[in-house]
Amino acid sequence: MILLEHAVQPTPATYQHAEAGLLEMTGGIEAWWSGRAATACIHAYYAARLLRPDVAHPQAVVPAMMCPTAAQAALIAGIEPRFADVDADSGLVTLENIQARCTPQTVAVVVIHLLGNVVELDAIRVWCHDQRILLIEDPTQALGGRFADGSFTGSGAELALYSLNRTKIIEAGGGVLVARSARVVDALHASAAQLRLQSSLDRETRTQLALSSRNLHHSLAGLLRMGLAAPQQVAQAFLAVRPAYEPLYLLACDPSLDLNAAWAALPAALVHRLELARLYAEHLRAGSWKLLTGFEQSGVCWRFSLLLRDGSQQVAFSEAVRRDGFHVSNLYWAANQFFRPQDACPGADRFGRRVVNLWVDQTVDADYVRRCCASLLAHAPQ
Ligand SMILES: *Cc1c(COP(=O)(O)O)cnc(C)c1O
Repeated sequence: MILLEHAVQPTPATYQHAEAGLLEMTGGIEAWWSGRAATACIHAYYAARLLRPDVAHPQAVVPAMMCPTAAQAALIAGIEPRFADVDADSGLVTLENIQARCTPQTVAVVVIHLLGNVVELDAIRVWCHDQRILLIEDPTQALGGRFADGSFTGSGAELALYSLNRTKIIEAGGGVLVARSARVVDALHASAAQLRLQSSLDRETRTQLALSSRNLHHSLAGLLRMGLAAPQQVAQAFLAVRPAYEPLYLLACDPSLDLNAAWAALPAALVHRLELARLYAEHLRAGSWKLLTGFEQSGVCWRFSLLLRDGSQQVAFSEAVRRDGFHVSNLYWAANQFFRPQDACPGADRFGRRVVNLWVDQTVDADYVRRCCASLLAHAPQ
């Protein structure tokens, strides 16, 4: 199915190979395409609410280490986000941390396979099922990757959501939800009508608003990093202006895109990413950092990541490597600090202060990686 501004339609031919591939990979029954993963996430939350009519004030538990999307989407869907801490050395959420944040009001739990590192879902799935909580898997950064038992990511929960927008593993555009149970399929059909997709937002406004949103996030994370504002102050400022960004989150599917071609290119893209990730790992073995190597098990790398031993060097180090002409990002910051600092997440805080992400996508090659590694080693904090 595709979500348009005022209608739901069957999936067009230009999406069908991608859809069939995703359904096969995940054991899914039905796919719902929209303009972005955030929209898919809102749709999933509405379905979670419908499945739990007994809960008056619903909550969703989301990982603290992520972009603000899952929490923003929850608020738009009328759900209060709660934040589960992550392991400080992997950035991944654990069953214990999810359990610590669940209440009788919890209707959904979102799990993200961060940067290509996979969260094993068996125990989390059983526990969520027992608690009547809808488990939502986000394999965007591990598309085509595998769990320890060899099954594909996206097959671990009742519902999987993907972003196929710029910078993701497939960049054709759009977001998609894959439903793996009949009750979720029914709930998605019923809740599709509740989505108010934006027809009024023109391209220029959207671009400016997206830029403003990114800048706000970076600015506030900067204050937190320097200790110049307390999380409570930052959350207050962020929550006060947050509603202005809501129109960004409800985006209809663009049926003119060619998802089939992008899907056909997936196997080659995964090989390219894995080869470059291994090259970084080989060159960066000795350094004042820990390497995240979960891609060796999952078979997919979204960004190659270092965890600096000394987080105080994160910005200076990244800037030095950037000045040498290489892509470096550290856009992740513990999301609970923007939405709900009282959900303490020390592991996410520690991870966010130390992580440095490097590129493995189609815009870079082996020669780039070797030169980038030389720059990283030259500027490595002592
Ligand atoms: C980028 C990203 C999203 C948001 O995707 P959009 O299509 O921009 O809404 C959600 N989850 C993960 C893991 C992402 O990396």
